[in-house]
Amino acid sequence: MILSSVSRSLVFLALSNAFVLLAQQGGRGAQAPQPGPPPVLVKLRDDLYVVQNQQSNGVEIQAYGGNAAIFLTDEGVVLVDSKNDREHDDLMAKIKSLSDKPIKYVILTHNHADHSAGAAKLKAIGANIIISAADRENMARTNQPFIPDFGFVGRAELTLGGKKLEMYQYRGHTRGDAIVYFPGDRVVALGDLLTTAETIPMIVNYPDGGSWMDWSASMDQILRMNFDTAIPGHGPLVTKSQVAELRNRMVTIRERVRALNREKKTQEEITETVVKEFNWGFGGSAGNIPGMMQELR
Ligand SMILES: [Zn+2]
Repeated sequence: MILSSVSRSLVFLALSNAFVLLAQQGGRGAQAPQPGPPPVLVKLRDDLYVVQNQQSNGVEIQAYGGNAAIFLTDEGVVLVDSKNDREHDDLMAKIKSLSDKPIKYVILTHNHADHSAGAAKLKAIGANIIISAADRENMARTNQPFIPDFGFVGRAELTLGGKKLEMYQYRGHTRGDAIVYFPGDRVVALGDLLTTAETIPMIVNYPDGGSWMDWSASMDQILRMNFDTAIPGHGPLVTKSQVAELRNRMVTIRERVRALNREKKTQEEITETVVKEFNWGFGGSAGNIPGMMQELR
């Protein structure tokens, strides 16, 4: 989901309110919150699986990264997102339980480490790594230890084992979110353009070129595609109508922020209002409000 190392600890705290609360209640000597059991493999179609954390919270994002999709063909495996570096062995074990074919391609939805930092080890075992050129630039700008060779602009197609995937570049969470469309399965993987757990609020990352205005424009284009199920960057799978509901909810919040901003409300007043009215704008999304006030005038 996130961003710079600077905000990592903030996000960690923010995304794990329940755990922080527990720790506070535990008082002195309370243990740091621990992640639960490893992610599970969720079967979505015969040839498409999702590696999903068991709990939607910041502790498990830190430990296990974001959702990853595993697409099976007769000629090899395509991954959407690599999760983080430390999840490599568990991810490989899950893939091996489904296919003895090599991992041919890894499509990164965006540059954030919980989705992309596992890519170096996957490249080392022969996978080709794909990302949008814009988010490749984000990786380079933030001096990531591994930067993919290949970046695409706009739209790309990948055919493997007679099956076609389509990639589209949008702006929203970052300047170059890549979504992956599986036409044969009527599924779309959206990265952090969409998070579906109430405990992991949707945000845009302004330093990486995100935008709430472009986000809704992107979601409107995505909603015109023929899919039944969406794989979010974090949280459970959702139906197309749930994607539309989440889009509408965020547009309502965005327009409320804009109206309050035009009324010259302070950041604190805006935050208080949207937290109260929408249960959004605290924790991981609190840091989004100053950027929104800049963008939404
Ligand atoms: Zn992200």
